[in-house]
Amino acid sequence: MNYYSTNGKAPVADLQKAVVKGLAEDRGLYMPERINALSKAFFNDIQGMSFQDIAYNVASAFFGEDIDLDALQDLVYDTLQFDCPVVKVKDGIYALELFHGPTLAFKDVGARFMARLLQYFIRRGGGHQQVNVLVATSGDTGSAVANGFLGVDGIHVYVLYPKGKVSPIQECQFTTLGRNITAIEVDGVFDDCQRLVKSAFMDEELNRHMKLTSANSINVARFLPQAFYYFNAYARLKATLGTQADVVMCVPSGNFGNICAALFGHEMGLPVKRFIAANNANDIVYKYLQTGSYEPKPSVQTLANAMDVGDPSNFARIINLYSRNGELSPAATHERITQLISGATYTDDQIRETMRQCYKETGYILDPHGACGYQALADQLKPGEVGVFCETAHPAKFKEKVDEILGIDVAIPDRLAAFMKGKKQSVPLSKSFDDFKAYLMER
Ligand SMILES: *Cc1c(COP(=O)(O)O)cnc(C)c1O
Repeated sequence: MNYYSTNGKAPVADLQKAVVKGLAEDRGLYMPERINALSKAFFNDIQGMSFQDIAYNVASAFFGEDIDLDALQDLVYDTLQFDCPVVKVKDGIYALELFHGPTLAFKDVGARFMARLLQYFIRRGGGHQQVNVLVATSGDTGSAVANGFLGVDGIHVYVLYPKGKVSPIQECQFTTLGRNITAIEVDGVFDDCQRLVKSAFMDEELNRHMKLTSANSINVARFLPQAFYYFNAYARLKATLGTQADVVMCVPSGNFGNICAALFGHEMGLPVKRFIAANNANDIVYKYLQTGSYEPKPSVQTLANAMDVGDPSNFARIINLYSRNGELSPAATHERITQLISGATYTDDQIRETMRQCYKETGYILDPHGACGYQALADQLKPGEVGVFCETAHPAKFKEKVDEILGIDVAIPDRLAAFMKGKKQSVPLSKSFDDFKAYLMER
């Protein structure tokens, strides 16, 4: 299958090129040129299938032409070694818990899938040259990518993070691993880390010296596998409620990669009636849905910081999908989108209030991201509809905030505690590109 660029000015790429390059030459995002629908038989039987089998079917529709099917099955099974339960919070509202992976983040699935896919391509090509993944992080992405790539031979990962700006739990998740993971502590802010990574990709001498690639959420191998979650959620819901339910899926969104994967699932035939994109105070897409005009602006810091995005990169994919690659006018595209997707936006005060209210009423502990999703369903669900929201992070990952807001002591899962026992190792660097380049030239 070929992948085209949302900017329409780059040549199409095959899967390998799209994954290794990440971004097209014209700075656009890669889109699969077809989205294959899944069969009636698949949807008839889905409630009896395991998460892994469901995911393998979905993965085959996307990647089956380009990867040997046995290898693909192995890759999917290796990626999904944990459960993704749908938990009833109260009548009509269910939490889809996406935080049971290795770093308790939903990004684990995309990160591991991408690592194994890159490894597959390296091996298939005879792979003698090491591939180096550069990733800038303010927390969650770094830990998911580092753990996803840990021990994958032929690939070395450099995680750049801002000194003193990452929570202690998150820092442990990528500085204690060792092996093929190097953490670089930059004396600067997140934007400096991102600038260093971008400059590295543009530096010719460095690119002659080593093979560089990125692992951020614009990569097709990172965002598409997130569609697995939504098919699995539908299956678990169908097993409990039967086939007739009008399902509404609500996704707390930042860069819009996760909801974009859900929408691709919908194009493949997933029987979901409509979607809600829940935002924190960074409400650019909410405003687009209200008005039809998209006006990016600098992000503001909130309690749900993994959703602090002022210009969500995957939004270009959503526009491309519903405009049929630019065939429809902006007005017609907006009309199609708003028929399927509504928005919501919540301030930090509202997030706190939701967390308290939900805990008091149901006993369920929401994290600040999931709280936006839960509240959007509580506000927008119509009679007869069943709502599922993604709980995107384990509340223990935001322990200080959650404890303070709810007046409780959230238990830290063993897996998270294990990271905190490890020895922190990182390379301190200034924010100057010359220093970063000199460091990489010695590798
Ligand atoms: C990354 C992340 C999000 C936002 O997901 P997008 O795919 O960027 O929209 C939401 N919640 C948590 C906890 C995250 O880590």
